[in-house]
Amino acid sequence: MRIPIIVPCECGEKVKVEIDSGDTDVNFECPNCGERNIGSLHQGFHIGRRLLSYAANAFEKKDFNFSILLSSMAMDCYLSRLYYKWRDIEELNSGQPYEPNAVGEKILKELQKINDFLEKIRKVEDLIYAKGIGDFIKQHHEINKKIQNGFRSINIDNFARIIRDEVMWKRNDIVHIGRYKYNEGHAKKCYNYSILFIEVLEKMDAEKRL
Ligand SMILES: [Zn+2]
Repeated sequence: MRIPIIVPCECGEKVKVEIDSGDTDVNFECPNCGERNIGSLHQGFHIGRRLLSYAANAFEKKDFNFSILLSSMAMDCYLSRLYYKWRDIEELNSGQPYEPNAVGEKILKELQKINDFLEKIRKVEDLIYAKGIGDFIKQHHEINKKIQNGFRSINIDNFARIIRDEVMWKRNDIVHIGRYKYNEGHAKKCYNYSILFIEVLEKMDAEKRL
């Protein structure tokens, strides 16, 4: 499934370009100035963001249950990516001989043992911000304010749990029970929660890098 993304041209025009989920670069002609634009997709366009684009696309096409699946996958895959990334860095800095294939297999095995969303969050927190995601939000005024204003049902002390209840449980209903009962309102909420969750994690990741 190819999905549309918006890419700015140098002339200022925002061009809708269709990409495949694995594409690393774009190549398009600007309908405004006629310039051919060739460039690589920003590194920040990671698997979580890509899946969010798919979730938005499914939502626009009114496939609300599928959109919920994609919103949940966006969070789950991004968590796995962060786990992999920071465990890999840990292994590189361990002082032990670093053998990429063996390390890769080791980390994958660790990931396979995690089968609960909250456990995966805890493992990522341990690697990036041990005090936990709730504490991280409290330390960041702008995220805190965003939640107070736009997500009033979220109690920050139970942030991860609420995200799980809202998004992952709906996902489980669809995946495990085959229940396609969700509507536009549910899908919109899942999508917004998923974006919020990924934004918080992106910030945690960025600050860990500093
Ligand atoms: Zn242009």
